[in-house]
Formats: sequence, structure tokens, C-alpha cells
Amino acid sequence: MLKAFLIKYAEIGLKGKNRYLFENALCDRISEVLMPLGSYKVYKEQGRVFIECPGDYDYDETVEALQRVFGISSICPVAVIDSTDWDTILASVADYVDAMYPDKNITFKVFAKRSDKSYPITTPDMCSMIGAHLLDKFPQLKVDVHDPRVRLTVEVRKKTYIYSIVIPGPGGMPVGTNGRAMLLLSGGIDSPVAGYMISKRGVSMAAVYFHAPPYTSERAKQKVVDLAKMISRYAGKIRLYVVNFTDIQLEIYEKCPHEELTIIMRRYMMRIAERLALKENCLGLVTGESIGQVASQTMHSLASTNEVCTMPVYRPLIAFDKQDIVEIAQRIDTFETSIQPFEDCCTIFVAKHPVTKPNLKVIRNSEKRLGDGIDELVDTAVNTAEIIEIG
Ligand code: ATP
Ligand code: MG
Repeated sequence: MLKAFLIKYAEIGLKGKNRYLFENALCDRISEVLMPLGSYKVYKEQGRVFIECPGDYDYDETVEALQRVFGISSICPVAVIDSTDWDTILASVADYVDAMYPDKNITFKVFAKRSDKSYPITTPDMCSMIGAHLLDKFPQLKVDVHDPRVRLTVEVRKKTYIYSIVIPGPGGMPVGTNGRAMLLLSGGIDSPVAGYMISKRGVSMAAVYFHAPPYTSERAKQKVVDLAKMISRYAGKIRLYVVNFTDIQLEIYEKCPHEELTIIMRRYMMRIAERLALKENCLGLVTGESIGQVASQTMHSLASTNEVCTMPVYRPLIAFDKQDIVEIAQRIDTFETSIQPFEDCCTIFVAKHPVTKPNLKVIRNSEKRLGDGIDELVDTAVNTAEIIEIG
């Protein structure tokens, strides 16, 4: 009976004249996630998106896929009746209730809508007539107008739609409606969550991972590729740049004070990320930083890493406690991968006592010791980055 879904969206509705762009992006993204599951028909009609399902579709798989589409506020499995004839509607609503609630041991309330105001029956009349018809047919049913277990909705448009199940969607906005950003993606817990959160606001993603072979292994890189795949289940296609950072790290290690290594290294990561972001037409960088989490994320350290780029740096986790970040990571399924114990380039040359309050002037001076050679290394790192297309 349920061969279609009605998709409701929230914030897109507020976009005035640009609304169609949001609706189109939502339809595109829905089509993209459903493509591997079968040949669905996705279309919009009067402020609603509808999905018609193929003959042998898998209900659970379809719902699971739709729950990863940002922009959807709710997913309603719906019975579509190809008629607006009143007697057909009454009979179809009864069939629907019979199929969905076979034991009839429910309380219900009817909600009716009509898109065509010239339809001969008003919505209050529709509600009471449908209610009366159901009670007549199934005397075990009970009406409860205050707290019904089943909210039975009947919408009369060009066709008639009947539904009572409302499954929450992920919210947010369709990916691609809010520009593009470059995510600094490490193998940790935080940056995948940061990427998820920014893409939830409609931003499409490119990503960069700093790799330091042979100090960091192929498996550490594979872990990042796996995380990128997980984010792309929500965020759509991601172009991942894998930057070979070894020579830059060795140069910093050789020439700069060891307690400043992490900060200087982070500054070079930001510079390279910004270069790649410009190539990718990104409007911002995204990191998983959170105030005070580690030495390189004190307010002083953040000010110091922030200084080297002019592009906005978005840090969606900035005020989150670790536990709250972990909860999101678990919900979006990145956590188990993130905690696999592979070395990260931030941990291989780490100082015993890193500075926690780096002084900008001191850091700039230390960087001068790197001379012009470092610029060449940065160019090489940017130009030789490996590109992996994800999703
Ligand atoms: P995460 O859990 O995201 O790794 P973290 O708590 O380990 O974060 P840091 O290692 O200080 O924190 O890194 C801060 C941010 O810098 C990360 O969230 C990420 O955005 C970026 N970053 C760190 N290391 C790398 C790397 N090897 N490649 C790409 N980005 C990185
Ligand atoms: Mg990390």
C-alpha cells in the first residue's frame, strides 16, 4: 500500500524567490542517495517533494538513505490515490487504516488539507466525514482529539495522499545550496564531526589530509579515506587531497624550537589548506578544533594558527565538550573508525612540553629560521597532492 513518500522540509520554505533552487537541490540529493537502491521517481509539487517507489523497493533501506539527506525535516510513507472523488477517498482511507492498523486498537484524529479551495467539501467537513466513516466501519476505533496515537492525515491535491507515520529527517539544508568549504580532515574524532555539521548547513565539501610517510602509515591514510566515505554518505561527493607533509615537518623539526613544533606545523597546514581551498573554489576552511581541548587549541594557539590565512575558518565544535562530540560521532557512525589506533602526523614529532600560550611575535620569528626553502616545500606539497574522489 505504501508505494511513495511525502518529504517535508523546513528551512527551505523560508527562502523566498530562491526556494526553487533549494527544492531542486533537495530533489537532486534524494535522487543521488536512492540511485543505488532502485529506480525511484522524485518530483516536487506545490511545496512538497514526493518520491514514488519502484515495485520491489526495500522500505527500511529507503528510509535509512533518506535520513541522510540534509534538508529533510520529515519522511512520511504515504498511500497515493489517483483520484479526488470523495467516495473513493472515503473507501481508500478505510483501506489504509485497515492495512496499517489491523488490530484497530487505536485512538485517532483526522487532519485534512486541500490544495484546491474550490473542492466541494471544506476541511472541517472532510475531517468529520472521514472520522464518522471510519467509526462506522471499524467500531473498535476511538477518536481522541487531544492526544491521539494516530494522526491520520488526508491531503487532497491533484491526487489524494493518506499518511499517519512521520519519521524524522536529519534537518539542515540540501548540500550544495550554501557554497563549498575545505575540511581539514585528520583521522581523529573531531574533524569528521565538524565536516558533518558544516555540510548539514548545505555546504559541499572538499577535504585535505596531511600525511607524513614513512612516519605515518598507509593504514593511517586508509582510515582517513574511510572517514571521508562516511561523511560523504551525508555530504555527497568529496574530493580528498592527500598532502605529503613529511619534508615540511622535518624542516620545522630541524630548524625551529621543539616546544613550538605543533603550532608552526599547524600554521603550515592552514596555509596549504587555504591554497587548495582557493583551487577548489571554497569559501572557507573547516577544522575540528575546540577551545582548550589540547595545547594547540588554547585561545592563544587558535589565534596563532588563525593568523596565517585570510579565508574564514569555521570551527563548528569550538564550544563543544568532548563527550558531546563523541555522541555525534557515534550517531553518524564515524566513532569506531576514528578510535582505531594509527599514528597521526601531529603526534610523531610532538614536544614533551608544547607551548600553550604561543606568542605571535616569537612564533613569526621562529618561522623566519625556515628561510625561503620552506616556500618551495609548500609549493611542492600543494602541487604533488594526491587527489582521491570519494562518493
Ligand atoms: P581531530 O580529532 O579532528 O584529529 P584533534 O583533537 O586531534 O582533532 P588536533 O590534532 O590539534 O586536534 O587538530 C586540530 C584540527 O586540525 C583537526 O580537527 C583537523 O581539522 C586539523 N588536523 C589536524 N591534523 C590533521 C591532519 N593530519 N590532516 C588534516 N587536518 C588535520
Ligand atoms: Mg587529531
